[in-house]
Amino acid sequence: MKKLINRPEAVVEEMVEGLVAIDPRLVRVPGQTVVVRGDATAIRDRQVALISGGGSGHEPAHAGYVGRGMLTAAVAGEVFTSPSPDAVLAAIQAVAGKAGVLLIVKNYTGDRLNFGLAAEMARAQGIAVEMVIVADDVALAATTENAGRRGIAGTILVHKVAGAAAEAGASLAEVAAEARATADAVGTVGVALSPCTVPASGKPGFTLGDDEIELGLGIHGEPGVRRGPLEPADALVDQILEAIISDAKLDHNDRVVLLVNNLGGSPTMELAIVARHALATLEKRGLIVERAYVGTFLSALEMAGVSLSLLRVDDTRLARLDAVTEAPAWHPAPPRSHARITLTPAAEIQASSLPSGQPRTPLGTAIRAAITAAAEALIASAPRLTALDQVVGDGDLGINLERGARAVLNAMDTLPVDDPASTLHQLGLLLQRVLGGTSGALYAVFFLRASARLKVLDAKTPRAWADAFQAATSAIAELGGAQPGDRTMLDALTPASKTFSTSLYAGHPLRDALASAAAAAQLGAEATANLPPRRGRSSYLGERTLGHPDPGAIAAAIWLQAIAPHAK
Ligand code: ADP
Ligand code: MG
Repeated sequence: MKKLINRPEAVVEEMVEGLVAIDPRLVRVPGQTVVVRGDATAIRDRQVALISGGGSGHEPAHAGYVGRGMLTAAVAGEVFTSPSPDAVLAAIQAVAGKAGVLLIVKNYTGDRLNFGLAAEMARAQGIAVEMVIVADDVALAATTENAGRRGIAGTILVHKVAGAAAEAGASLAEVAAEARATADAVGTVGVALSPCTVPASGKPGFTLGDDEIELGLGIHGEPGVRRGPLEPADALVDQILEAIISDAKLDHNDRVVLLVNNLGGSPTMELAIVARHALATLEKRGLIVERAYVGTFLSALEMAGVSLSLLRVDDTRLARLDAVTEAPAWHPAPPRSHARITLTPAAEIQASSLPSGQPRTPLGTAIRAAITAAAEALIASAPRLTALDQVVGDGDLGINLERGARAVLNAMDTLPVDDPASTLHQLGLLLQRVLGGTSGALYAVFFLRASARLKVLDAKTPRAWADAFQAATSAIAELGGAQPGDRTMLDALTPASKTFSTSLYAGHPLRDALASAAAAAQLGAEATANLPPRRGRSSYLGERTLGHPDPGAIAAAIWLQAIAPHAK
C-alpha cells in the first residue's frame, strides 16, 4: 500500500481537520467527524436542515456538499464504514431547529440502521426528522432477496434538489417529497477498471486482471453484474446507458440530466471521452439531455472507473439543479439547449491567392525540385533520425519530420513556387500546423522569417537568399533561446548560413556556396556529438548524450545537402 497518509487509523480524523481548515465556511462538531455549515445555527428555524453521510472514502462526498444550497451537515464514518448513531445524532442536534431535519441516506444496511436509530433518538427529543433512502444502482435487480439496490452517485443529485428546495423555504414534508421523487427518478451504473485499498486493511479489496473490468461493481468493491474483458470506452458506455434507460423506461423526448462520475482513479481525459459518447448516444436515442455534470462526485478511494447516472427532470427539478450553491464540490453545468457557438478567427489564414501549380519560371522549377529533394531526403532518413532521437531525445523527431515532409509533398501543387517569398511563407504555415514538437515551431519561424526577408529583397539575387538564410537562423535563436554550441539544429544552421554568405560575397556561384553551406552544416552537426546539451529535451540527459550527435542538427544537414544540387 502506498498512500499519502500518516496513520491508517487517523485518516478520517485528519481529513476532517483538513476540510474545515481549507474552507472557513465549514466547522466541525467537537469530538465528532461531523462537518457543518458555519451558519447552521443562524438558519435552523428558517429552513429544513439536510444531513447526509456514510462511510468515508467517497470524497468529495459528503462533506464537499456542505454549504448554502446543499447539505447542512455531513457525517463521516470510518472508511467504507457507516457512522455511529451517536455521530449522526450529534449532527442532528447541531443543526436541528423549528424547520426540522431531513436525513438523506444511501441504501446500505449499516447506514439505514445507524441513521434510522439516530432519527429515532432525535424524535424522542422532540426533533422533527424525516429520512429518505437513495437506491439508484440499477445494476442490481430490486429484489427482496438482497438488501435491495445500493445508493451511489445519484445521491448527489438528490442532495442538490433537496438542498435547493430547503434553501427556497420548502417545508420538511415538501423537501422530503422532492428528495424522494428525485431518488425514484435517478438510475446509476458503474464500471470499475481497478480496485481500491482501504487504508486500515492495506490490501486491495478485490482484484481485477490487467484486461478485466467489472460492470456494476459497488463503490465498496461489492460484486457487480458482470466481470469481463476490457472493451473500448464507447462499448462500455453503451451497455451502461442501455441498463439505465431500460430500467427507467426512458423514451423519446424524455428530459434527463447526465452525471458522469469518476470513481476516483480515472484521468479527467477519460471522463471527457465517456461523456462525449454518452451525450451522443442519448441524443441519438431521442432523449433530451438538459445538463451534463462531469467530475468526481462520489468516489471509491482510488478505484479507476466511472459511473453514469440519468435523472429524469422537469422544469421544477431542473431549476433546483441550477440553483446556486456554495457547496465546494458541486459543479454547475450550463444548459445544453444553448445554441452552439461557432468560432470566427480574427484573421483567417488565407491560402495564397497567387497562381500556383506547375512552375512557369526557371527559378520556380529549381525551387520545386529543391523542396521535393529536401522532403524526400528527410523521409528517407526518418528511421535514422528516430534512432538518434531515441538516444538523446524522446524519439519522435524522425516521425515528425517525415510527417512534415509528406505534407509538403502533398501540398506541392498548391505552392506558388514562382514566388519564393510566398512559397516560404506557405511552408512556414504548413509546418507549424503539421510538424509539431519543438522543431515544428522552430522550422515555422525559420521559413516565415526567411519569407519576410525575401519579400523586401530581390529573390533573383543570391545575396537576398544569403540575407534571408541568416535572418531565418537568427529567428530560431530568438524564439528558442539557444545559441550555437548548445547542441541544437543551430549548430548546423549557423555555420551553414555564415559559410553561404561568405562564399557568395567572395564571388562563388550560388551552387558552390550552397554546397559549402551544406558541408559546413554536416561538420557542425557531427561536432554536436562532443557538446554538452543545454537546450531542448536532451538537456535533461546531461552527459549521456556525449558521443551522439544532435538529431535536429543532423536533420538540418540532411535537407541542406539535398537542396544544394538544385541551386541554379
Ligand atoms: P521535442 O520532441 O523536444 O518537441 P523535436 O523532436 O521536434 O523536439 O526536435 C528536437 C530537436 O530540436 C533537437 O534535436 C534540437 O536540434 C532542436 N532543438 C531543441 N530545442 C531547441 C532550441 N531551443 N533551439 C533550437 N533548436 C532546438
Ligand atoms: Mg523529440
